Amino acid sequence: MERSIEQAIRAEALRLGFSACGFAKAEPVSNEVAQTIDHWVEQGNHADMSYMERNRHLRLDPTQLVPGCRTLIVTALNYYPKQTLPKESYQIAYYAYGADYHRVVKDKLYQLLTYIKDLVPGVQGRAFCDTAPLLERYWAVKAGLGFIGQNRTLIIPGKGSYCFLGVLAVDMDLQEEHHDMPTSCGNCKRCLMACPTGALTVDGIDCRRCLSYLTIEHRATISPDFIGKLGNRIYGCDTCQQACPHNRNAEPTSEAAFDLPAPIAAFTRDDWHSLTPERYRELFKHSAIERAGYDGLMRNIEAVHSGSKE
Ligand code: SF4
Ligand code: SF4
Repeated sequence: MERSIEQAIRAEALRLGFSACGFAKAEPVSNEVAQTIDHWVEQGNHADMSYMERNRHLRLDPTQLVPGCRTLIVTALNYYPKQTLPKESYQIAYYAYGADYHRVVKDKLYQLLTYIKDLVPGVQGRAFCDTAPLLERYWAVKAGLGFIGQNRTLIIPGKGSYCFLGVLAVDMDLQEEHHDMPTSCGNCKRCLMACPTGALTVDGIDCRRCLSYLTIEHRATISPDFIGKLGNRIYGCDTCQQACPHNRNAEPTSEAAFDLPAPIAAFTRDDWHSLTPERYRELFKHSAIERAGYDGLMRNIEAVHSGSKE
């Protein structure tokens, strides 16, 4: 039987290394979702990520973000590491172990677009990975990839949540039947109980309390209320994903770009404390860790050190 164009695109996405790929009609998000987001922002849960207050119209309607787009091709790229930092070491969130995911995911999406253009000449598209006001997780659900867990990540049944989401917005219609799959966490509350700061509730995440936000996006001093909660975390926090039963059988990524570089794997606490701006630039110039900047990372290292003495 001849493959449909959707099947051909998915097969190519998997060949490129994505672990999932689906299709969602580009249209405004539902009123219910728009209201939930508005309420979340009004309550100040986005902390000082003021970009969440801007471009509401684009965030809620991808056809305004990319005029003419008709389908969002949503992909997931596994980043679960082959090798993790020893427990006693200072910890970096898994997603930031290797190369900056924005570039890796977008490179693959543009390779996928090239393939699509060969199939259907004239198709236009734009790739996004955390680089535009786009509700990636919402569209991943619409595309049939999984559901949004209480830890606010996209959970792909059978694969878990350690995935980067990427979106290719194209000006062609693509459609597929979705398979039945779980749509919620059921009675599980493991991530809510595991969160060290109480940032997660059944109503969502309060970024003002989230260690991932506080160690990456937050630019000011970390409040003493949270310093003692940092544990060994110097960049990000994986606790609510580590607690999730859907991640129990996570398969390590086959994407070599996400491997932990050997010099960082060998870093002692003293190495972190004596990190110079030059060495930081050398080690992290193509890493997501650049997001915090040298000063932010050193602030975190000092905070973890002082928290360990409390
Ligand atoms: S990332 Fe850490 S601090 Fe933030 S919600 Fe998850 S467990 Fe809580
Ligand atoms: S730990 Fe449980 S409640 Fe949290 S996201 Fe996973 S399944 Fe959902």
